Amino acid sequence: MRAFALILQALIAIGLTAFGTPLRAADYTGPLFDAHLHYNEEAWDGQAGPHPPADVLGRMQRSGVRAIVANSRPNKGSLTLAASPQAREAGVAVVPFVRLYRNRADYSGWFADETVYAMVQAELVRGTQAGPYRGIGEFHLYDSANADGPVARKLMALAEERGLVVLAHVDDVAIDKLMAHTPSRGQKLRLVWAHTGIGGTPPERVEALLARYPGLMGELSYRPGLVCDDRQLCPAWRALLLRHPTRFLVGSDTWVNQRWQDYENLMQGYRQWLGGLPADVARRIAWSNGADLFGIDLPKTP
Ligand SMILES: [Zn+2]
Repeated sequence: MRAFALILQALIAIGLTAFGTPLRAADYTGPLFDAHLHYNEEAWDGQAGPHPPADVLGRMQRSGVRAIVANSRPNKGSLTLAASPQAREAGVAVVPFVRLYRNRADYSGWFADETVYAMVQAELVRGTQAGPYRGIGEFHLYDSANADGPVARKLMALAEERGLVVLAHVDDVAIDKLMAHTPSRGQKLRLVWAHTGIGGTPPERVEALLARYPGLMGELSYRPGLVCDDRQLCPAWRALLLRHPTRFLVGSDTWVNQRWQDYENLMQGYRQWLGGLPADVARRIAWSNGADLFGIDLPKTP
């Protein structure tokens, strides 16, 4: 019996079960910061909808999400979450961002539309019931040349001057362009790169951009090549996250209602690969990087 126990211990030590299959790391169980969340009008339709505030807050609560970046088309969704007593009751901190989109048409023209710039300024003046807006975005650039549009230039300068965090769904070329439009030429702007290159920017190129811009952080939803068949990080990404544990965030990207239906699963998927990282690195990427970026404490639960 004692010999059996010793053999079992040895097998566990080399990462195998008694049946020779890999021993899976325990899932991460700490708090999550959802750094890329939308509460768009089709999710709740101004109140009722398929996912009213109580529904989405329940999903966050069941997933252990304790803070969110809220950016919604139109901004009414974020404002509603920011004002919600239910968010406080659920122990979810709301970090509001100004969305650049009043409607679907704004996706493709915001970078040259002065009325979008005026709307952003009006929103910043108004603020939210959870305090001032903390960032702008998410915005999309499907052609990186549009990063040089007149309103894109003005918004990057405004973000740096006001200390607003930018959430940008762009390619690596556009990262360089957006950074070039700031007074510090990218040395001070804090920019969360939605999906960290949804087109599959190679990890080496991601790493070069992290080195060039101290305020650049990568949000990991939809990132191609991130997670392998065993639901753990693929080797190149595991190495990148371990080299730069302070530079990555997780997010749900609830851009369509199906993502709300999947919310708990999405967060569970993050918990699986986070569990395969050293505990301090997992907590950084899951929670502390977002909390530090916006200076928030873990909310108390009732
Ligand atoms: Zn998004």
